[in-house]
Amino acid sequence: MDLTELMNTDDLLADAEANNAVSQRLIHQVEHLSNLCQAFYECLSDAGIDNSTITRKLSEINERTNETEYATNGFLTECHSCGKLVSSRHSYCTSCGTRLTKSFIL
Ligand SMILES: [Zn+2]
Repeated sequence: MDLTELMNTDDLLADAEANNAVSQRLIHQVEHLSNLCQAFYECLSDAGIDNSTITRKLSEINERTNETEYATNGFLTECHSCGKLVSSRHSYCTSCGTRLTKSFIL
């Protein structure tokens, strides 16, 4: 059955506009978070904190997130690129950035 037969054009356009508005808000939020991360990074660099310290702290945060996720939902995903365990709610590895596939859910 053709789904467009079930909804009229006005409903489809309204849904598309609503989805576009949500997408635009998410893009704006991601840009804001990116700028915020850049500001934190520059402040830390100005304070003499180097990349290895920031990377180590990021790993600690990822581990804590994984422990919380595992305790809450019991699902972790193993990254097929770097082997790190990542919360299964992530689409990308929080360690190396590789796109995760659900076939690796533990
Ligand atoms: Zn990875």
